[in-house]
Amino acid sequence: MTPGICVLGSCNMDLVAFAERAPSLGETVMGTRFLTVPGGKGSNQAIAAARAGGAVRMIGAVGGDDFGRALRGVLRGAGVDDAALRETMEPTGIAHIVVDGGGGNSIIVIAGANGTVNSLSVHDEGIVTSSSVLLLQLELPIEAAIAGAAAAHRAGVRVILTPAPSRPIPDALFANVDLLAPNQHELADITGIRDPKAALVSLLEKVPAAVVTLGSEGCLYGARGLPPFHVPAPKVDAVDTTAAGDTFVGVLAVALAEGREIVEALHRANAAAALSVQRAGASSSMPARDEIDAFLS
Ligand code: ADP
Repeated sequence: MTPGICVLGSCNMDLVAFAERAPSLGETVMGTRFLTVPGGKGSNQAIAAARAGGAVRMIGAVGGDDFGRALRGVLRGAGVDDAALRETMEPTGIAHIVVDGGGGNSIIVIAGANGTVNSLSVHDEGIVTSSSVLLLQLELPIEAAIAGAAAAHRAGVRVILTPAPSRPIPDALFANVDLLAPNQHELADITGIRDPKAALVSLLEKVPAAVVTLGSEGCLYGARGLPPFHVPAPKVDAVDTTAAGDTFVGVLAVALAEGREIVEALHRANAAAALSVQRAGASSSMPARDEIDAFLS
């Protein structure tokens, strides 16, 4: 059976300018390099899942512009079904990123077409309810995520939420999440607790299960009624950790949709993310299914 994964999420074009230092207000500086990189957490997770062998359908929106066509091309190239990726009058969403010589960055995100996705988009052709896993993040209007999670939950579809970027999460959304997947910063933002294990335990008052990604340390998983356990990441030389978390979640979704046990699914997600951090880029660094299999064999 092919695992059906629906991603309800954002598509952005990342416009990345590199300069020795970021300009201060009113100032112009000469930069050193510029990149246009397909991004958005929704699109990244969809591509990660498709590369890992999932049958992935994406619900979202892009503009009728060059960025929108480029993003659609990248999704299709990875094998993502884009029939429910609407084209809107609003321009494609962008993330305007300045990276300074020390690797620090500042980012302005313009939601554009992403801002038009709403609770009605969720009911497109019954995609959510006919999937086995729904992947959500927090880059779309919150009403879309709430409606998506509710529809999925009613239909018995497993809902995985990446709570990024950090923003308040209404109880109406928490109520229908099966697995929350924050990184350490998002976990601390949600719970106000710095120690990951203690924070994870407090999170389980809101959701039945959670996995916290810990960068090079791997991840920590907890479910109500079970002691939390740690799954270490393979030791690798990381060159670029962009979208490591999105790779982890996309691959985890495929493994769970295939019916794998949680421990095995977490090992696959760690392995795929460890492969991705050894290569530069976001979607371009995500491993194919056979690479994940080879790495684990
Ligand atoms: P995010 O990308 O959302 O900030 P993390 O930094 O926690 O998330 O990374 C997500 C996952 O990527 C980790 O759980 C781990 O599997 C993998 N990962 C990240 N950094 C490394 C690293 N240096 N070595 C090996 N795996 C890594």
